[in-house]
Amino acid sequence: MSKIDELLRDAPVLVEGGMGTMLMQAGLPPGAPGEQYLLDNPDAVEAIHREYAAAGVRVHITNTFNGNRLRLTRSGLGEHFEEINRIAVRVARQAADGQRLVAGSIGPSGEMLAPLGPISALEAADMFAEQAGILVDAGVDLLWIETMTDIAEAIAALNGCRRVWGGPISVSMTFSDTPRGYYTMMGNAVEDCAPQLENAGATIIGSNCQLTAEGIIPLAAKFKELSSLPVLIEPNAGIPEIHAGKVEYKDTPELFAKSAERLAELGVELIGGCCGTTPAFIAAARDRLAALRA
Ligand SMILES: [Zn+2]
Repeated sequence: MSKIDELLRDAPVLVEGGMGTMLMQAGLPPGAPGEQYLLDNPDAVEAIHREYAAAGVRVHITNTFNGNRLRLTRSGLGEHFEEINRIAVRVARQAADGQRLVAGSIGPSGEMLAPLGPISALEAADMFAEQAGILVDAGVDLLWIETMTDIAEAIAALNGCRRVWGGPISVSMTFSDTPRGYYTMMGNAVEDCAPQLENAGATIIGSNCQLTAEGIIPLAAKFKELSSLPVLIEPNAGIPEIHAGKVEYKDTPELFAKSAERLAELGVELIGGCCGTTPAFIAAARDRLAALRA
C-alpha cells in the first residue's frame, strides 16, 4: 500500500496550516519573500513545522510556495533556486521525524499564461517540472500544487510534475463565492475544474485560500459531488482586515474546528488551513475530530 493510501485510511487527516502567517510572526517583514527567510533561518522554519507536528498534522508542506525559478528570479533570489527548494525539503523532513509525510509546495508562476500573459503553457510546464524535479530529488512524498486560479496553469503544473514524478500529486485551486457559483479569479467554474484535474491525473483535488472556514463548506460539498478523488480543503482564518498596515484575520480556532467537523461529515479526506491559520487552529480541529471519534 502506498504511503498516501495508508494515510487516507485514517481520513480525515490534518495537514499544515498557514506558513506565511507563522513566518511573519517569527519576524518576516510583510511582502518579503518567505524563501529569503528560509535561507537565513532554516532552523526557525523547521521549528514552525514542528509546531504543526505537535498540533496533530500528518502532512508537512514545504516552504516553497514561491519557489519556482520565475518568482525567485523576480524577488532577486534566482541564484538560490535549487538551494532554497532543497533546504525547504530538508527542514520539513527533519521535522517529520519519519512519522509524517512531506508535501512539496508548488505555487503559481505569478504570470498569466499566453495569450493574456508572457509564458506559454509549455514554458510553464517546463518551469514547474524544474522545481518539482528538485523537490522530488530532495525527498518529498507527494507534490502539492496550490492556490491556482487558472485551470490552464493548474494543468500545466500537473503536466510538468508528471514528467518527473509518478507518485501522488495534490492540486488545489482558489475560488470565490459568486452569485453564479464558485469561480476562480480567471473565471473557471468549479464544475469545470474538478473533472479536468481528475482527467489530467491529479491524485487529490480541492481548494485553498480566499474562503472562510464557514464559507468553504458548500464548495467542499461540491467537490465531493463532482469527483471521487480524495478532497483537500484549506480555508483562510476569515476575511482579512488591515489594521495599522497589518493584515489580521478574525476567525477563531473554535470556529475553524467547528468547520472541520462539518468537513469531516461531508467526507473530506484532507483538512488544513491557509492564510491566517496557525498551529492553534489545527490543534483545535484535532481535538474536535478526536472527540467525534471517541
Ligand atoms: Zn491563503
